[in-house]
Amino acid sequence: MPAGSSSSSDSLRQSESNGATQPLRIMSVGAHPADIFDQSGGTMAHHIERGDQVACVVLTHGARVHDEVLCTEMFHSQHIPDARTLSNLMTERSDIKADEVRQACAILGIEEVFFFGAEDGVIMPERATALRVASLIRSWKPDVLLTHFPYENGGFWNSHASAGHIALMAREAASSVEPGDDHPPHHVACTFFWGAGAGQSPHSIWEVRRGIYNNVIIDITDVVEKKLAAQECLQSQGYHLGFARKAIETTDGHVGRLGGVAYGEAFISERSQTYRYLPVSDYALTRARQSDREQLAVISYKLDTFNGARSHTV
Ligand SMILES: [Zn+2]
Repeated sequence: MPAGSSSSSDSLRQSESNGATQPLRIMSVGAHPADIFDQSGGTMAHHIERGDQVACVVLTHGARVHDEVLCTEMFHSQHIPDARTLSNLMTERSDIKADEVRQACAILGIEEVFFFGAEDGVIMPERATALRVASLIRSWKPDVLLTHFPYENGGFWNSHASAGHIALMAREAASSVEPGDDHPPHHVACTFFWGAGAGQSPHSIWEVRRGIYNNVIIDITDVVEKKLAAQECLQSQGYHLGFARKAIETTDGHVGRLGGVAYGEAFISERSQTYRYLPVSDYALTRARQSDREQLAVISYKLDTFNGARSHTV
């Protein structure tokens, strides 16, 4: 923890005065194996520590995603194996990725992870997968849904955006009955989209026209080492070779800076929420009572680059 950062988590366990007083059931739905950890690993770790229930859903097998065999080795090879051989290899690689996801979930304390095994070449917001996710929502009964912003990178053609659409279609379907599913309809209370994925900083023509912004930032400073360890389980796609650390410093560090903390995860709340009192966080009050230099000290805390086994030289 940052020295002298009394504004960070220990003294600032989120004020519950404006939050839910009941344990939450949180379902995180990602397109690919890494998404749930990249976008919400620290947040999920917090909720597990608090005693909430967290389930992860990985919609596609993800075998093609940054894979060291299918993406890296084959990129420079002269011949791609025949269809059957390639399909078998993809099954092998997706099994490896599923094991990595389970290892990462174990580090965060997450026991429930569901693999839907959808094709990752082209992800369409289609009915069959949405109905399968809807069935899971009816049976698992999440209060909170975390997923991709459905217009990420222009929407539809983008795999993350399609996954966001599938999650939303599933949520809507789950609010009604379905022949063959004996679970009653279920209503999800709140949906939060992953803000960093949605583009917290405009960087393409798709980002400049939306008018969205991250209206929820979760301080993950106290669990950022745990998030790093989880991400570094994803060795098939090279996260352990420095990428996870770089992503945390650049993305979570940037989001944290926006939120006045060292490391943060960004979310976009789908709807306004209703409170009895105005939702003013202890973070806002503490920051308002700090000098510029004190605020800088909080933001400037940085992961130790040289702290042993998880430091890597590429
Ligand atoms: Zn992804």
